[in-house]
Amino acid sequence: MKLVERTLVLGGFLAAGCVWAQGMDTILVNGKVVSADERGSVHQALAIRDGRIVAVGSAAEVRKLAGPATHAVDLGGRTVIPGLIDSHIHAIRAALSYGTEVHWFGAGSVAEALERVRAAARQSQPGRWLIVAGGWTEEQFKERRRPTQAELVAAAPQNPVYVQWMYGWAMLTPLAHEALGIKSEADLPGGGKYERDAGGNPTGAIVGGIVPLFDKLPRPTFEQKVEGTHKFFRELNRVGLTGVSDPGGFNMSPAEYAPLFKLWRDRQLTLRVAYSYFSQKRGKELEEFRELTQLLPMGFGDEQLKFNGIGERVTFGMYNNDNPGDAEKEEFYKAAKWAADQGMTLTQHWQNGDSVHHLLDVLERVNRDAPIARLRWSIAHLNNGTEASFQRMKALGVGWTMQDAMYYEGERLLKERGEAALRRMPPLRTAMKAGVSIGAGTDAHRVANYNPFVALRWMLDGKSAGGVDLRGADETPDRMQALRMYTSGSAWFTHDEEKRGTLAAGKLADLAVLSGDYLTVPVSRIGAIHSVLTMLGGRVVYAEGEYAKLDPGGAAR
Ligand SMILES: [Zn+2]
Repeated sequence: MKLVERTLVLGGFLAAGCVWAQGMDTILVNGKVVSADERGSVHQALAIRDGRIVAVGSAAEVRKLAGPATHAVDLGGRTVIPGLIDSHIHAIRAALSYGTEVHWFGAGSVAEALERVRAAARQSQPGRWLIVAGGWTEEQFKERRRPTQAELVAAAPQNPVYVQWMYGWAMLTPLAHEALGIKSEADLPGGGKYERDAGGNPTGAIVGGIVPLFDKLPRPTFEQKVEGTHKFFRELNRVGLTGVSDPGGFNMSPAEYAPLFKLWRDRQLTLRVAYSYFSQKRGKELEEFRELTQLLPMGFGDEQLKFNGIGERVTFGMYNNDNPGDAEKEEFYKAAKWAADQGMTLTQHWQNGDSVHHLLDVLERVNRDAPIARLRWSIAHLNNGTEASFQRMKALGVGWTMQDAMYYEGERLLKERGEAALRRMPPLRTAMKAGVSIGAGTDAHRVANYNPFVALRWMLDGKSAGGVDLRGADETPDRMQALRMYTSGSAWFTHDEEKRGTLAAGKLADLAVLSGDYLTVPVSRIGAIHSVLTMLGGRVVYAEGEYAKLDPGGAAR
């Protein structure tokens, strides 16, 4: 890595000279500006005008570009990175209820998690629902277990409480059972069952049928959803994110996008959002895509918000099905071929590397009939993908969105699959070697935390939330490689790597000034890094501490 780039790198359009006198809108000086480009360039300073980076270079050189109206930000030696981009996060859905839920992100113990429920209960009317909708795992708690019903009742005796773990389990207090009219197992939607203890007594938790169960909970109002979206995106800005690629999800019908669209219309979005559509109608997937996209062509939108195709559920028959039959493959083929004909991007959820050949067979068939290489298709998850699968993906131009699922689930899988399997989950270097495009992310927030620094730390040390060493060094990238996966790597999936993902002249000024130096702090401390100043297109969207006066006031909305 080149430590300091001595030459000032300017955008080509500045070379004409006459624009110099007008000065920059903002300059950031006296820091460590990590371009995250292919060469690993690091500069001292950066200049911004009209939302774009116009120069990177030494502090002295960049200072010369300042005019009387230029705002100069002293970085005080801090590190600046390109704004992070999560290539697979259910952010739009998470945002809808963010303002009305209790969050257990980062809680280190059951006691701390319960304290958050207790605090929410204190601020709520009796009878108001308290909902923890995922984003935590028992391994993050020092007690290494889930909360009991009695503990939740003690924390919130007058409120119905619902605590969901992943998509497999939810604990409900008696008031919650009552409010949902659940008097016996027969009242559970979607084939859910009571969890029972060793003595056969119901624990209060429900296993299975979690998605329809969640659907029965009271939904936030439209205003609460707008507010939640604003708050959640600002929280993402706080952890250095400036972009997301959102694959829809369960319960994400078109109507659920209205709060996001309102913020976009009001020019209040603080993240760049690219979204794809997750089919909602079993057996009518292609019909649904056709209907919805008549007025929503591929790429429709702007730099702030745009439509990025279909997935991560394309057809129901190929979703979480390790052994699809011919009819299911044919149905997927038809939808995918249609997408290829529309020039549309497609992303497909696939967990298991042992069965992904079924999907790859269909993608290869589509590619023979309508080439897909330029469409930036992708497979999400694939935590145990093989070298051969990644080579097939590379040949098709299909990328891989990789998430930190093993941070949460790795210890459980360790018991099922053993150390050797976990050492290569996910096989980051194998995929790099195959030359596949890799985007980083979290799959937050029902199943994971959204924090990119937690994910970056995990990419570098392979340890679970509980601190168990899982992934081996031979499948572990270096810091710059991991950062590039989280920036330009992710940008590839939304056709944006020419516009953002590196700090270089001509790129959008999306960046984060960090609380700690990502390149040099001990890896164990990377998870605690956050942004102290986040800019989107040169506009401050989050600031704290020394920079607090620059903050647009997220709470003021
Ligand atoms: Zn998925």
